[in-house]
Amino acid sequence: MKERNFLDSIMEFEQQLESMHQQFRELMGFVAEMTEKNHSLQLENHHLRKRLDEIDEQEKKASSAQRAEKKETTVDVGEGVDNLARLYNEGFHVCNIHYGSIRKGEEDCLFCLAFLNKQNV
Ligand SMILES: [Zn+2]
Repeated sequence: MKERNFLDSIMEFEQQLESMHQQFRELMGFVAEMTEKNHSLQLENHHLRKRLDEIDEQEKKASSAQRAEKKETTVDVGEGVDNLARLYNEGFHVCNIHYGSIRKGEEDCLFCLAFLNKQNV
């Protein structure tokens, strides 16, 4: 009787070990998955930060260039309007309502026309 109990305990213990082993493997799988995700997120974060720095840098350059060229704005505005008019003629919106999107069926847009007229005055 005693021996039987002992064997039962051993077998029960073995089952517990197996179940723990299974849990352990699942946990390891989870850790591996998380590590991989963490790695790719870090990589993505790194790329995004780099991109953000680049954009910041460009904006700084652009704004300092703008400040330097402020005296010549009258000339620049004319050129800018020409560019906008060309964009408009190529079929894009230049109005601030649809800016950058394609004009449907190349129909005239009143907002764009009003905007371009205002700039030309
Ligand atoms: Zn428009």
